[in-house]
Amino acid sequence: MQFINGELIAGSGEQIEVINPATAEVTGTLTAAEPADVDAAVQAAKNAFPAWSRLTPGERSDLMLAWAQALRDQADELAATESRETGKSIRLATGFDVPGSIDNTVFFAGAARHLQGLSAGEYWPGATSMIRREPIGVIGSIAPWNYPLQMAAWKILPAVAAGNAIVLKPSELTPSTTLAFARAASEAGIPPGVINVVNGYGRVTGEALVGHPDVAMTSFTGSTAVGRRIMEIAAGTGKRVHLELGGKAPFVVFDDADVEAAARGAIAGSLINGGQDCTAATRAYVHRSLFGEFTERVAALMEQIVIGDPSDEDTDLGSLISVAHRDRVAGFVERAQASGARVLTGGEAPQDVPAGSAFYRPTLIVGAEQDSEVVQQEIFGPVLVALPFETDDEAIALANDTPYGLAASAWTSSVNRSMRAAEEIAAGTVWINEHIPIMSEMPHGGYKSSGFGKDMSAYSLEEYTNIKHVLIDRSPGSTRDWHDAVFR
Ligand code: NAD
Repeated sequence: MQFINGELIAGSGEQIEVINPATAEVTGTLTAAEPADVDAAVQAAKNAFPAWSRLTPGERSDLMLAWAQALRDQADELAATESRETGKSIRLATGFDVPGSIDNTVFFAGAARHLQGLSAGEYWPGATSMIRREPIGVIGSIAPWNYPLQMAAWKILPAVAAGNAIVLKPSELTPSTTLAFARAASEAGIPPGVINVVNGYGRVTGEALVGHPDVAMTSFTGSTAVGRRIMEIAAGTGKRVHLELGGKAPFVVFDDADVEAAARGAIAGSLINGGQDCTAATRAYVHRSLFGEFTERVAALMEQIVIGDPSDEDTDLGSLISVAHRDRVAGFVERAQASGARVLTGGEAPQDVPAGSAFYRPTLIVGAEQDSEVVQQEIFGPVLVALPFETDDEAIALANDTPYGLAASAWTSSVNRSMRAAEEIAAGTVWINEHIPIMSEMPHGGYKSSGFGKDMSAYSLEEYTNIKHVLIDRSPGSTRDWHDAVFR
């Protein structure tokens, strides 16, 4: 299904099965969008753009507040669908994904009225400058499967709040909540064509969207490899690109940390969404004096995690997104063991789960080398690697020693160490004595191979605008200063 110009329509491409990874059941089938369908969606957005961009920010804001209410009215259904298609626990979907998306909608409804620019006065008598923030046009966005609803929200909301129209392609694995999100906008009165959704594989549907000449900007969240491919395609039409890519977040525990708080933080930080989170804690660097205590505590807490049926309120951890992905995660763990690392807990699928499901136990690894793949590459599963360090200098250097730079945390009771970590770790977010919290008001985005551009916050609204300088000379001819200097 596609959502184009306010209507659900079938695509003309191949049939793709949507699977519940916790049960291996097929929950639906979608017809992929071919390039002609993508073109229809882009044309719908292009047609909707002039009127939408001319609404006042206040008018757009009112419609977005009604949209937030439409989402609240279907919150339970959204959470159930999100859990069914991703395998994540219903507690996470209900407590994080859905309320986070609604809060984002309310935030951007407000932010729509706060587009700001620096203006400056009086260069010569009667001349002043002002800034206009103008929408760009049609935005083409592509989102991943790990938080389908939130990723759609992060892309769509700032774009439309700023007056753009958008076509978004969700992951082919998790299409339904993005369609529901767009339909809720329609129910709330956002005009047809402002928000369109096309489904299908990246190579066909995604590339048609990125390469479309009428798409003025591409915003992408996904893997670093696909992000680079997207830059290549976008270069063909010279469009603006915004990339939120992979991560490999360090979790640094200094010798003055509250070790119990750090161990609990490591559980939440590494296991959220089954570790399928671009900011998840993946590399715990722990001062040697705390290393034994920290790893023992983390292993014990990991063993208490309840894995199972995601729809059960008592489940802490659901399944991973697919069997193929679970096998990829397991492959990292097996190769780490083969090269001498030790698995303190986990490292296998749990017992008593449905045949063909994609569960994997929380896993703690020690004894890996800093330059090994399990420390350097994004695993995107419930796998934490712990390594000891001796000095603060070493900890900061190790934290920075991967190609990624999305997020990091430091655990310490010292203001000095907190500030040093905040300054010297190259990442778009540095948490102190926390790992994971995100909020609508604050920006999210990467350094280094984790991409560029910001999601959420007023900064993301700016990403979806052009900045125009307007100079007004109130009394032309009254001063000859610069004319005279140049022309006499
Ligand atoms: P992915 O890169 O495989 O796919 C992301 C999206 O891109 C999907 O919709 C996919 O269909 C599409 N796609 C794939 N190939 C394409 C192509 N050639 N042209 C156009 N589109 C294409 O990523 P994934 O496996 O869905 O998600 C996991 C990745 O996303 C991880 O690397 C994770 O770190 C990253 N991620 C980053 C953030 C962030 O904010 N930085 C947030 C969530 C996920």
